[in-house]
Amino acid sequence: MALVVKKFGGSSVATPEKIIAVAQRVIRDKQPDDKVVVVVSAMGDTTDHLVELANSMTDVPTGREMDMLLSTGEQISIALLAMAFNKLGYPAVSLTGFQAGVSTNNAFNKAKITKIKPQRVLEALETGKIVVVAGFQGMTPGGDITTLGRGGSDTTAVALAGAMRADVCEIFTDVDGVYSSDPRVVKDAKRMKEITYNEMLEMARLGAVVMQPRSVEMGKHFGVPIHVRSTFSRELGTIIREEYTVEEKEFVIRGVTHDTNVAKVAVLGVPDSPGIAYKIFSALAKANIDVDMIVQSIRNVDKNIIDMVFTIAKPEIVEARAIVEEVGKELNVLGVMIEEDVAKVSVVGAGMFGSPGIAATMFGALSDAGINIEVISTSEISISCLIRAGQVDKAVNAIHACFFKEA
Ligand code: ADP
Ligand code: ASP
Ligand code: MG
Repeated sequence: MALVVKKFGGSSVATPEKIIAVAQRVIRDKQPDDKVVVVVSAMGDTTDHLVELANSMTDVPTGREMDMLLSTGEQISIALLAMAFNKLGYPAVSLTGFQAGVSTNNAFNKAKITKIKPQRVLEALETGKIVVVAGFQGMTPGGDITTLGRGGSDTTAVALAGAMRADVCEIFTDVDGVYSSDPRVVKDAKRMKEITYNEMLEMARLGAVVMQPRSVEMGKHFGVPIHVRSTFSRELGTIIREEYTVEEKEFVIRGVTHDTNVAKVAVLGVPDSPGIAYKIFSALAKANIDVDMIVQSIRNVDKNIIDMVFTIAKPEIVEARAIVEEVGKELNVLGVMIEEDVAKVSVVGAGMFGSPGIAATMFGALSDAGINIEVISTSEISISCLIRAGQVDKAVNAIHACFFKEA
């Protein structure tokens, strides 16, 4: 007997036929004693359409109302999937995030799971039911519905698997595993048998949307193995776990990622004195806005000013602009510029630490492709470059070709 949590993404449940196919697949793979929890996302592009609907009302919807709206997408798919199981003769029950015991903080639109008490899930499993849970949503202590950020159903699934000590969390999607680069962009990307939590987390953080970064953190926290695999085939996919167990140990670079969901913020002519960076970034932090790739220029000696450049996620532009312009006024800066026409390309690999030349190879690939680098940032296991958005496919392919020659 196994306890498994299976998550099916939006493209896997995009139509009624696909929902029935998911139910059939789950039933076919289920051993008689298995306990199965199925987490689902909203059908197809439903969440995107809900965002458009909100934008047709206002440019600045409140977080609470936005989440009230966005959470409805998953509620449709859980009900339909439970109906499909019942019709096929397998008793099932659908539960919202709240009913499944998912509690979050108050950060609407990107809430963090603070606690999971899956009492109702466990009770329903005991009665022999398949339990269908709405991904992407939870509830604040005050009883308001929240959502977990785009791709958040991954996190619901892994968190539930962790809280219930499931044997495995299977993430079913439209690709058959994790690749060395987005297979839609790099045709000869290599599929991996395994990847560590740390490397997957870095790849996800830097744009590999196949897993939401927080879901990987959850997997690491609970030590749940995550199996990323295809909804449409029975082949094994990629296992995300703490350590490598098979042959794929000898590599320096694990993946090349890209992220077009970024914007570049430049604060120009900032007085060069103590506490300035603190003022700008604490104001953003207070609004729960993540910043990345922070670069401060060297001082203009004559004027005693510097420029500050950093990146944020595109959906936060409106809020970030208001905050930075406000602080900028206070500091008497020369100007604030936000550019959306940028993208981040990164290489990720735990082996790059202590392997000189990785940065040079990456920059060489971009240079040979005639691509200008605007900002560079590094971590122990990644190097990222900010470039023009229109060049992203060319950049990813050029870098991938350099690091995965034999692919
Ligand atoms: P779902 O709707 O199932 O959650 P997503 O669209 O969120 O699916 O994630 C799957 C997509 O992730 C794939 O279609 C692929 O284009 C993209 N992707 C980006 N980077 C990678 C990668 N390194 N490996 C696999 N897929 C990736
Ligand atoms: N439906 C949500 C989204 O589109 C959550 C998810 O798919 O994981 O982001
Ligand atoms: Mg997803």
